[in-house]
Amino acid sequence: MILCSDPKKQYLVYRKPIREAIQRVLDSGWYILGNEVKSFEAEFAKYIGVKEAVGVGSGTEALHLALVACGIGKGDEVITVAHTAVATVAAIELTGATPVFVDIEPEFYTIDPKKIQAAITERTKAIIPVHMYGQSAEMGAILEIAKANKFKVIEDCAQAHGALYKGKRVGSLGEMGCFSFYPTKNLGAIGDGGMVVTNNPDLAKQVRLLREYGWAERYVSHVSGWNSRLDEIQAAVLRVKLKHLNKDNAKRVRLAKKYTKELKDLPFKLPRQREGCVPVHHLYVARTEDRNALLSFVKERKVGALIHYPVPIHQQPAYTKFKRSDLPETEKAAKEILSLPMYPELSESDFKKIIKAIKEFFQG
Ligand SMILES: *Cc1c(COP(=O)(O)O)cnc(C)c1O
Repeated sequence: MILCSDPKKQYLVYRKPIREAIQRVLDSGWYILGNEVKSFEAEFAKYIGVKEAVGVGSGTEALHLALVACGIGKGDEVITVAHTAVATVAAIELTGATPVFVDIEPEFYTIDPKKIQAAITERTKAIIPVHMYGQSAEMGAILEIAKANKFKVIEDCAQAHGALYKGKRVGSLGEMGCFSFYPTKNLGAIGDGGMVVTNNPDLAKQVRLLREYGWAERYVSHVSGWNSRLDEIQAAVLRVKLKHLNKDNAKRVRLAKKYTKELKDLPFKLPRQREGCVPVHHLYVARTEDRNALLSFVKERKVGALIHYPVPIHQQPAYTKFKRSDLPETEKAAKEILSLPMYPELSESDFKKIIKAIKEFFQG
């Protein structure tokens, strides 16, 4: 089976430095919040182009911590999309706040700025745009609306490490940026991990307190926090991979171009690039009304295509309380989208097999 993403292949490419990094941590005897996390935070902040980066337990936790650091909690509303990983909404709920869903732009799969105004109430405290599939949301318009209405922008960058919006890396545009290092992400650990980035030193300080029981010094809590730390082994491995992120993202971009070239004449809507943006193609998502038939057809030919995501959040069993009928583009996308295998190490022969299977479906 050709997998949709294949983190083991990346491990094999960087096997030697990854093993050395892990060994270095084992030998150090320091396994939580040490030099590796500190160095990785500095290196990642520099890469994104922000003052501060704070390593945390996961992408969900990055969002949760960022929201709490911004003072968001019970009684507040946070605007976001229902076309996202459930983590975005789980993080909002963890704070006690209520997620308010806005529909997506169908060609980019990111929040539709034209529809944000109608979702704003006096309880709106923040917006979480999700840079879906590796491409930035329309940040210019989003930042303007947020400024005019005095609420915070917290970017969900879990699928977009290194993506650019008008020359700036996503994560550096809003008040805070939140990253996941889940193994299949563009920058992936060998377990869970996440990062909060910001140019605001006070917010960074708050996240540092919250991620470790509110400690400003050992054993003395200054705020009510909890435990959500990035561990040393994950940080050491991520330091190895960060050095190669631009090169690996460039490989994804090249692969996306190859897909587009091969598939452009089929009745298959291919990903579009937003003007002024450089995407990093976390996924290559195309759409067709024949999606379900195409998915089973290519699966029989050992192409592990997937759907990201098959059920919009407001239609999932856990979230029936958020049921609503004004998200037509979100619901339509969920029925038509298909993610084709996308990772830097995808071989030419596998690529040919994928193209062959898709062409056979459409052209017989
Ligand atoms: C992966 C992902 C997350 C959550 O990250 P975890 O590290 O798995 O908690 C959040 N938002 C989006 C859009 C994601 O793709």
